[in-house]
Amino acid sequence: MSAGGWDKFMKNGSFSIKEMYKHLQSDLEKVSWSRVLCQNQASPRSLFTTWLAVNNRLPTRDRLAVWGIVAIVNCCLCNAAPESVEHLFFQCDFSAQIWSMALKALQFNRNPSPFSNELAWAFKSAKRRFAKHQLFLMYFAESLYAIWLYRNDQIFNQNHINMTAAVLFREISFKVAC
Ligand SMILES: [Zn+2]
Repeated sequence: MSAGGWDKFMKNGSFSIKEMYKHLQSDLEKVSWSRVLCQNQASPRSLFTTWLAVNNRLPTRDRLAVWGIVAIVNCCLCNAAPESVEHLFFQCDFSAQIWSMALKALQFNRNPSPFSNELAWAFKSAKRRFAKHQLFLMYFAESLYAIWLYRNDQIFNQNHINMTAAVLFREISFKVAC
């Protein structure tokens, strides 16, 4: 096999089951990914934002601060913690309220959890056919997108409008319904 083949399963010169397993795991993750994104009927823009969030490519303040681009790291929605993907979705009080409304609307009897956990729920939902789980995926993507847009508006638009979590949730529900 060529250099791009077996050598990814080699460690210290010998074939490693562990390396192969790790590789298969990442392939499995890719499959889960494509399910979360491709079987999702949310808008393309919200799916793109979801893809960026999942790959930690959103320009959140914690990342910008590392590059020395911004000095302020706190979340502009709550000002209570550094802004990161995990915080924005959905540890932040403001977005936790939104996600809690979505979970309630979908009759999931649990509280919002940090992004990586919600992502695990999304993986599970992507394997299921019930409308409730398909709606979960749409709400997930549309909520990420709406919260990200709202956050951008708060930071970059001097004439931004302050919304309550309930108002933003209604907007998200409207997009899902469409
Ligand atoms: Zn916050």
